[in-house]
Amino acid sequence: MPQLKFLVLGGTSDASALAGLLADDPRFDATLSLAGLTKAPVLPAIPCRIGGFGGAAGLARYLQDNAIQALVVATHPFAAQIRQNAVAAARATGTPLLLIERPAWDSQAGDRWIEVADMHQAAAALGPTARRVLLTIGRKDLAPFAAAPWHGYVIRSVDAPPPELLPPAAKIITARGPFTLEDDRLMLHEERIEVIVTKNSGGTATQSKLIAARELGLPVIMVARPPWPDVSGLEATRVSDAAGALRWLAARHEDASSAKRGV
Ligand code: NAP
Repeated sequence: MPQLKFLVLGGTSDASALAGLLADDPRFDATLSLAGLTKAPVLPAIPCRIGGFGGAAGLARYLQDNAIQALVVATHPFAAQIRQNAVAAARATGTPLLLIERPAWDSQAGDRWIEVADMHQAAAALGPTARRVLLTIGRKDLAPFAAAPWHGYVIRSVDAPPPELLPPAAKIITARGPFTLEDDRLMLHEERIEVIVTKNSGGTATQSKLIAARELGLPVIMVARPPWPDVSGLEATRVSDAAGALRWLAARHEDASSAKRGV
């Protein structure tokens, strides 16, 4: 039975979950790709390559050189550049795309969300009065907060951000999700947090801070997701999780096998 050969662009819990589902499945020849930014990444149970491709052209070359039959985009909703590259490379090579887009978080009764379009708006929304702020936005979007140095920042991220990116006197907590509600309640209390800034990442691994904020009546500045690049004219399918991706891959494998058998 011929295998379906595909590449998974990862760096998320969805990609790790998909790798777990694919491991040892003889229908598939899958490789997971990681950017290589995390110091100690959680390595998958399928073959893995690490590092950039060299832009959209480099990714297109990789797809062609490796005879990739489908490109699975399981990157973080805020990793906008690699998504653009994926769409451009799929367009250039005619590779079918499977997009895993976990649902965004929605506010619920009791939430005090301030929804903003980007990090600059988030920094501005903190206002002129000094506050204790929890930033759970990763490492690369910190610059706008350096322009509001009167706040006391607590920054939680997987690896410590480079010192030159930090707002003055920021406290760093290095931690990798998933987090528990109990841990987040305690952290918000101990750090005397008054407001949280987060990206609308969706998923369950980092959701507990939102529940803890609701319980404590804390405001949350929620940064909206960047839009998807235009996939019109492409063979592109969206699913919301790893299980949906596996169903699509299995159907694609079945179609390819039937075509080979002449059924
Ligand atoms: P980005 O700005 O969209 O991409 C920057 C560059 O990193 C890309 O142009 C590409 O380099 C390389 N890259 C990104 N993802 C890659 C992958 N899976 N495999 C190979 N190369 C990759 O990405 P980012 O926001 O820095 O995020 C980097 C990684 O961390 C992504 O894989 C993402 O899923 C994960 N992540 C991001 C966030 C976030 O908030 N942004 C949160 C959690 C996890 P080349 O152009 O050289 O190919």
